[in-house]
Amino acid sequence: MRCKCGNLELGYDIENKIFYCKNCKSKVDILPEKLVNAAMYLVQKETVNSINNSNLNELNKIRSSLDDFDTQIKEKVQHKLKNDAIEILTKLKTNQELHEIDRDVLRYFLVGDVEYYVKEDVSGVIRNIKKTLESIKYYSKSEDVVALSKLRAFLKDLKNNLGIISTYLEAKERIEIFEKNINNIEANRKMLIYVLEQKLKP
Ligand SMILES: [Zn+2]
Repeated sequence: MRCKCGNLELGYDIENKIFYCKNCKSKVDILPEKLVNAAMYLVQKETVNSINNSNLNELNKIRSSLDDFDTQIKEKVQHKLKNDAIEILTKLKTNQELHEIDRDVLRYFLVGDVEYYVKEDVSGVIRNIKKTLESIKYYSKSEDVVALSKLRAFLKDLKNNLGIISTYLEAKERIEIFEKNINNIEANRKMLIYVLEQKLKP
């Protein structure tokens, strides 16, 4: 992944969704099979660099490109599972039984992104939330400027941590709904057909 000018440093242009050379600024074409690799290399490098150099601008850039990279990976997974998913769709439509392997494909196809996420341990985040709530309780007794300013900081902290928990709960909910449906295919056959058809739309 070297630019024509010989430079190796790549950047990602969010607006145009392209990789570019950090030296000559020209677009760098990347083979589809190397796309995820290039994106993940950039994520690792730019994250460390922006943190090490306390570069807010670079940090925000990499942060806002994460959704694009996630979409690229998601599309890749769906592409890899497409043929299997079409087969499963046919089975569902013709009232055939789904095998264990079909269920696994469906699982990756529909909730694969959150399956690993819910296995993450969020107990540390919950502990931090409880600590923040203790602090809020303490500082809300007084209304001087110092206490009020601290309260604002704690609310910001709380908001960040609640964001993590809500992402976790959303993931958990999606898995639970998936499990419920897959364990009762007869009752949910129509719905599964609909969901698959939507997902398989070009
Ligand atoms: Zn270049």
